[in-house]
Amino acid sequence: MSTRLSPLDHERLIARRGARSGLLCIVAVHSTAAGFACGGMRILGYEDRWQGVDDALRLSRGMTYKCAAAGLAHGGGKGVIALAPGEPLEGERRIAALHDFGDLVESLDGAYGTSADVGSSAEDMVHVRERTRHAYSLPARHGGGGEPSAPTAAGLERALDATCRARFASDDVGGRTVAVLGLGQVGGRIARRLAARGAALTVSDVDPAKQALAAELGATWVDPDTALTADVDVLVPCALGGVLNEDSVPRLRCRAIVGAANNQLAHDGVADLVHARGILWAPDFVANAGGVIYAVTVDVDGGSWHDPGAHLDVIGENLDAIFTRAAAEGTTPLHEAMALAEARIAGHGAGAGR
Ligand code: NAD
Repeated sequence: MSTRLSPLDHERLIARRGARSGLLCIVAVHSTAAGFACGGMRILGYEDRWQGVDDALRLSRGMTYKCAAAGLAHGGGKGVIALAPGEPLEGERRIAALHDFGDLVESLDGAYGTSADVGSSAEDMVHVRERTRHAYSLPARHGGGGEPSAPTAAGLERALDATCRARFASDDVGGRTVAVLGLGQVGGRIARRLAARGAALTVSDVDPAKQALAAELGATWVDPDTALTADVDVLVPCALGGVLNEDSVPRLRCRAIVGAANNQLAHDGVADLVHARGILWAPDFVANAGGVIYAVTVDVDGGSWHDPGAHLDVIGENLDAIFTRAAAEGTTPLHEAMALAEARIAGHGAGAGR
């Protein structure tokens, strides 16, 4: 087997071939110590299905840390419906796969609550809900809170401000050079916000259709590798994970990195490489917590979202504390972010420090 799997410190890992669709459905529950495990379900093509298992393992652990750092009383889980690369999943077969996945979630008796993620949507959750109560973030017409991308982007903006405060002693992004990698639900929104605040933007996406947004915002369009290695103040990774690795870090020319993509580091040791380059990295699981904060507040707890700042300010506060402590101790932001999350997990994640 070519794939090296993530450490297996999870409570559960279940992979089941769907009876209806024949597709491999996977759920990893990393921890329920603080409460039931939250995390989205991705529908993605994999060269090797073990990569889908590894995605579930890595992403579910990240969700435990994300929930803990955000002060949510939940642990981390993740779901995957694994396709072959480029394999379509539409129509009746998609609904069959969503029902298969819903049965798998239901078999966990509430240990895991699912929602949308890369490749899946709030509409998909309607079909998952047909098989289990433990599906969240349905569209508003079904009584749910819908896609969490706007709160994720709003939280990311707070993270970006905190990163700029720590790196440049100012969170005024006017005139600051920023490269946004990935102009999807979150990246497109943060690019719009940054353009409105006067940042000089370089943007990229593998989807050429996103060039229209670049033109609308007056941003410079480049290919993904050029954006990744652009000579800018801030790099904002908003595509897929693993973008920071042994190959890319030596080529980086940015001064700070803060983005929405999950698992930006190929492995934890990359945090040391980034630190040694003098680049300030905002831990992804702290910076991109806006979506899960929204989903838990609105869909799980049935609370209101009239004052987003009351829920999202914790992201900037966490990063201010993490960067301050890392500078004082000579450690990496990853080290301090994990310490913060672990302290809250030890206190059962019940909102310590919020
Ligand atoms: P999305 O699918 O809407 O957008 C991703 C964009 O990245 C797409 O436009 C895609 O074409 C582009 N892309 C893919 N591979 C690329 C590459 N190699 N180079 C450049 N562009 C590439 O996803 P999203 O909802 O915006 O999420 C973006 C990232 O943030 C993901 O890693 C996701 O897991 C993470 N995240 C999202 C949320 C949320 O609320 N949506 C919450 C937390 C974390």
